[in-house]
Amino acid sequence: MDVIAKNLAGVQERIHRAAQKSGRKASDITLVGVTKTIDAARVQRLYDLGVVNLGENRVQELCAKYPLIQGEPVWHMIGHLQTNKVKHVIGKVSMIHSVDSVKLGEEIDRQAAKAGIIMNVLIEVNIAQERTKEGVAESGVRPLLERLLALPHIKVKGLMTVARYVENEEDNRNDFFKMKRLFVDLAEEYADNMNMGCLSMGMTNDYEVAIEEGATMIRIGTGLFGSRL
Ligand SMILES: *Cc1c(COP(=O)(O)O)cnc(C)c1O
Repeated sequence: MDVIAKNLAGVQERIHRAAQKSGRKASDITLVGVTKTIDAARVQRLYDLGVVNLGENRVQELCAKYPLIQGEPVWHMIGHLQTNKVKHVIGKVSMIHSVDSVKLGEEIDRQAAKAGIIMNVLIEVNIAQERTKEGVAESGVRPLLERLLALPHIKVKGLMTVARYVENEEDNRNDFFKMKRLFVDLAEEYADNMNMGCLSMGMTNDYEVAIEEGATMIRIGTGLFGSRL
């Protein structure tokens, strides 16, 4: 077995165990393979092993890799997105995980309208209130959501967070718990206006805790491809 196949089997096993531990089904959790800095041949290998959801965090890299992967990969834009680059990802990605301002939402809406599509988006939440982080503070989620709901070419599918970098994944448990609570509250409050099914949280270092706390989508790079250094 090659290293990617071996890594994937390990990740799948851990997803399974974390799901079981919290009374969930592994099939309810979508694995997004994060392909930043990874060459097309290795990305293709991951896709061929059955990981059809692929995530990139930079527009330029996404656009370069996009035509190189054979098959029907489902691309996700998971990184910070500048408004002037929105036009390059519309039509390529199935979801933008990183909407954290009205201005960005409006540009996505405008470009999606132009392309004649409806764009799925997640609101990125800076749940740990880190100063250096992208994402909207928890208190800003509802005001932003209200504005996004008025945009006809956007569909808000849920929430995303990039948790803190910690030595011990347990240290992020409370932040994941807070994300899940916010997610459930919003789904209930806005049940008439939208269908929120996606809670994107958990990376190589903390995905098991994220799953135990309710993640429906995890974004894994290092755990599949090895260290990017
Ligand atoms: C790089 C990245 C990931 C994956 O990180 P790993 O630690 O390599 O699993 C997930 N989400 C975002 C937004 C990223 O930029």
